[in-house]
Amino acid sequence: MTQRVLITGAGRGIGAAIAQKFIGAGYCCILVDLDLGAWQEPEKQDSTRLLLETDISQAQNCEQLAAQVMATYGGVDILVNNAGIGGPFHRIDQVSEAEWDGIFAANLKSAFFLCKWALPVMKIQGFGRIINMASAQGLRGASQSSTYSASKHALIGLTRSLAAEWGPFQITCNAVCPGYIDTQMGIQTQHSRDHLDKVLRQTPTGTIGKPQDVAEVVYLLAQPSASYINGAAWVIDGGMGPCLML
Ligand code: NAD
Repeated sequence: MTQRVLITGAGRGIGAAIAQKFIGAGYCCILVDLDLGAWQEPEKQDSTRLLLETDISQAQNCEQLAAQVMATYGGVDILVNNAGIGGPFHRIDQVSEAEWDGIFAANLKSAFFLCKWALPVMKIQGFGRIINMASAQGLRGASQSSTYSASKHALIGLTRSLAAEWGPFQITCNAVCPGYIDTQMGIQTQHSRDHLDKVLRQTPTGTIGKPQDVAEVVYLLAQPSASYINGAAWVIDGGMGPCLML
């Protein structure tokens, strides 16, 4: 049977590259985003694709999404929790409760809602892959970025705990931790452009990553042959994290 992959945040950036990769490999794809953009164009429609425009930071939206996926495809084999938001870029004493809650709802709670549904389904199927889009900032702190960094640390904690909990059922759960990737969130905003030179100076490859660099790793982790990779947090950052550029 063709495998079914659900990708959140598939409307643009890293999520769109992941969607392209799986579509190219013939998977049945469920693409989810607040705004699916170009995927909605008539020439992009395909019977092996389910497009769902919804806000996955809300529990009831995730429940509706799960019901639609079950009614259409009867289950899901691979869940890529990629959707997320960045910011707020200021010190902790300036972070509002609304900002904190908004980041945690989009970056962490959404994964909780979707894992809660998908894992029991995967257990019955006897196969499953969960891939959570964390960040290099999920493994180390960053000034002016405490809320985002905390949410990604928590996502890695969730990943490792689910790996322990569901590993006995042929389900793996891993995190991917990109550094700076060429997307709207990564480097295309004014904030990120401002410190781009600093980032490049500290990156051994001297480059910014492409969304496709991340998609390749997600695809690899989704394969049946990746069955012994579980609870990992793979960094994709050109060496910026572990290396010191003197
Ligand atoms: P992006 O802003 O280009 O795309 C994110 C997509 O997620 C958008 O299409 C947006 O509409 C969608 N989205 C956000 N909140 C949503 C919600 N509540 N419900 C449904 N869809 C929602 O960002 P990107 O760079 O492609 O980031 C994708 C993931 O990668 C994020 O989790 C981000 O934290 C992570 N990441 C990105 C970078 C980077 O440098 N680009 C680095 C590390 C981690």
